[in-house]
Amino acid sequence: MQAVDPRTLDPAHPRRVVIVGGGYAGLTVAVTLAHRARAGDGIEIVLVDPRPYQQALSELDLVAAGTPRPQFAELWYADVLRGLPIKVVHDRLENVCTAEQCVEAGPRGGPVVRIPYWRLVLATGAIPFVPPVPGLRERAITMWSVDDALALQRSIEEQFRHAVTICDAAERACALAVTVVGGGATGVEIVGTIAKRLPRMIARAGHDPAELTVTLIEGRPDILYDLPEIQRVRARQRLEKMGVHVLLGRNLQSVDATTAYLEGDVAVPSPVLVWCGGAHADPDAVQWGLVSDNSGRLVCDENLKAQGHDAIYVVGDVAAFRDPSSARVLPMLAQFAIREAEHAADAVLREVRGGPTRPFVPNMHGEFVSVGPGWGVGWMFHMNIWGWPAIVMKRVTYIMYWVQVGSFRLAWKRTVQMLRMRH
Ligand SMILES: Cc1cc2nc3c(=O)[nH]c(=O)nc-3n(C[C@H](O)[C@H](O)[C@H](O)COP(=O)(O)OP(=O)(O)OC[C@H]3O[C@@H](n4cnc5c(N)ncnc54)[C@H](O)[C@@H]3O)c2cc1C
Repeated sequence: MQAVDPRTLDPAHPRRVVIVGGGYAGLTVAVTLAHRARAGDGIEIVLVDPRPYQQALSELDLVAAGTPRPQFAELWYADVLRGLPIKVVHDRLENVCTAEQCVEAGPRGGPVVRIPYWRLVLATGAIPFVPPVPGLRERAITMWSVDDALALQRSIEEQFRHAVTICDAAERACALAVTVVGGGATGVEIVGTIAKRLPRMIARAGHDPAELTVTLIEGRPDILYDLPEIQRVRARQRLEKMGVHVLLGRNLQSVDATTAYLEGDVAVPSPVLVWCGGAHADPDAVQWGLVSDNSGRLVCDENLKAQGHDAIYVVGDVAAFRDPSSARVLPMLAQFAIREAEHAADAVLREVRGGPTRPFVPNMHGEFVSVGPGWGVGWMFHMNIWGWPAIVMKRVTYIMYWVQVGSFRLAWKRTVQMLRMRH
């Protein structure tokens, strides 16, 4: 890997593949191309991302709930891409000029440099969607970056330091409360980790963990809608066993500094409030002149090409790929992002070599959600799996990803880190 100034790139390179976004999707495209391209293909791989590392979003719950080292959720490009023929530009994509086949990149609001492309792969991901509920934007902590996770960690610590100085028991109990809104996979993972780790933290500080209140709020009638019903019940029962109050079918109406107010005059003490209620594509994506759907995701065809643009692929959370078998747009999941990325890399190489392209088939072999560290629910090859085997399977998918984008060395290093973090 080589970090480059984009002005040093040859403006006339005939086969430059520019990949924008170095998350699960973008990194997979870059590494797959680097491994599979032959010298005769003549491609130059350029990865554009303002950050020097990929954020492992699915590990954020551990950083948020007291794990001291945020580095685990950071996959540094210099380490992962070592020795691979990939040029990295640390800038933001500001614009796509489809007619001239170039992107404009630079620091946000600063001068931009044009980078011409032969093929462009857009993999810019998504950001949290915070609806206009009064007080929500000001009070809630979202969960979409290492910074968000650290903000939650800080907020929990500050709130608890304050709470334990309160003498009145009822008042103290209201102050010792964390509420998570959103019963999808992200909300369940976050609330499970909080419910498991915080009581121990409180006990270590010499206080009564029974005073802690952890609440999960979901507007729909159940949590984890993507999972089979039996697995949803198991997850709910597990959360309740861990002391989480699960409030279903109640929408959030407003939020103030201490309380979340729900439909039906329900008030939930929420001095720390985490919003995991949804995500949408980066709003900038709709300004690039490509066709987008209602949530701002870029519409692509069966080959993952941006609608009407033969030289542009869109993959990962930013892409709205409609699965022909279900007629539904694929959910924002790392597993789909990686599958799409592998397909796009393969398609680029087929184009280089003049071979026929083939449509993308999103084969989903399984899905796992942790419900507190060490326990989870999910399915694999039509089989329901729960308890520690589900967590083992979830970890195996990470290890496979690390092997895929890095090497056995990276997978080994991170597996050891992962095991150490659990104790
Ligand atoms: C807390 C949490 C837990 C999750 N847990 C799971 C899980 O257990 N299993 C699962 O399958 N999925 C999980 N997901 C979803 C999964 O993380 C996403 O589906 C996945 O990250 C999508 O990959 P991506 O490459 O499309 O986007 P991302 O991984 O978000 O990467 C996008 C990249 O684009 C870069 N970028 C953005 N805008 C620009 C720009 N203008 N210019 C240049 N670069 C840009 C960003 O810096 C980033 O590096 C979780 C998500 C969250 C938030």
